[in-house]
Amino acid sequence: MSEILTPHDSGAMLIDGKAGAAAVDAAARAAAAELAGALGRQPALAVVLVGEDPASQVYVRNKIRRTEAAGMRSIEHRLPAETTEHDLLTLVAALNADDGVDGILVQLPLPAHIDARLVVESIDPAKDVDGLTARSAGALVQGAPGLRPCTPSGCVWLARQALGDLTGKSVVVIGRSILVGKPAALLFLEQNCTVTLAHSRTADLAKVCAGADILVPAVGRPEMVRGDWIKPGATVIDVGINRVEADGKARLVGDVAFDEAIESAGFITPVPGGVGPMTIAMLLVNTCAAAAARAGLSTPNALSDILGG
Ligand code: NDP
Repeated sequence: MSEILTPHDSGAMLIDGKAGAAAVDAAARAAAAELAGALGRQPALAVVLVGEDPASQVYVRNKIRRTEAAGMRSIEHRLPAETTEHDLLTLVAALNADDGVDGILVQLPLPAHIDARLVVESIDPAKDVDGLTARSAGALVQGAPGLRPCTPSGCVWLARQALGDLTGKSVVVIGRSILVGKPAALLFLEQNCTVTLAHSRTADLAKVCAGADILVPAVGRPEMVRGDWIKPGATVIDVGINRVEADGKARLVGDVAFDEAIESAGFITPVPGGVGPMTIAMLLVNTCAAAAARAGLSTPNALSDILGG
């Protein structure tokens, strides 16, 4: 059994996203080394941060650190909050044109005066390592090759660590955002699961969830999913990250009431330390995949299990 799965006193297995991310980071490192040999340079990821949003600063710092640790080149563009949409689009166009850049990530959210959709759509789909352009989303719908969104890819990978082949599993994804819910539903469909996509208007959500072999809440409501929503033995992949205050202390909780859920779940991701760390790991994988595809090379062997599964 993989070290990613660790037994909990309740009898459930914890799915350790930190260990998972470390394993995927290591595969990306091996792929980056192989690609560096073939390309004559390191695969390169450009990260663009506009403004001073504190959470974004932390994410970007972590992305840069892990990109460099994986043996890739990190290119950083920090722009002031007053940057115009035109200037940001000009920067993205320059990164699109730069042959030494394999992946472009514009950190969201952007300041309100900038149309985030327009900026994301201006990224060359071949460098769209966040998988958020309409072209990448269309490729996912069509089952065509393309870069897949990172957080949902991390969810599927964790579920596969727990269960192996997901064929025939009944999956309920809660949340229908472009960033997480919709692509997660399509990625589980690609794994031959039978997928239900639930949202704020879903009737009797608890009953819908109780039918799931794999439950993937991506809502942003602390501990909304209660223990009795979970089918005994089900796998719970909790995407939610919510900051709550209790007794004057801030802490992070998921969309799932963990202490209740662990009594019925077979496998469950904790928050923090579950899905969260997987997002950057999949970003590194996508950067390598983009570097290989742009150069007309086949996907590095180290990534074939992660991307091909
Ligand atoms: P959005 O706010 O874009 O989407 C939330 C979704 O939840 C919507 O589709 C909404 O439905 C649905 N929803 C809201 N309330 C309910 C309800 N009461 N019952 C059922 N569904 C409901 O959020 P994101 O998709 O961007 O993020 C979701 C969560 O995932 C957040 O906690 C976020 O922090 C976390 N996240 C974690 C990441 C990571 O681990 N690395 C990365 C990205 C996000 P409707 O469409 O009907 O309004």
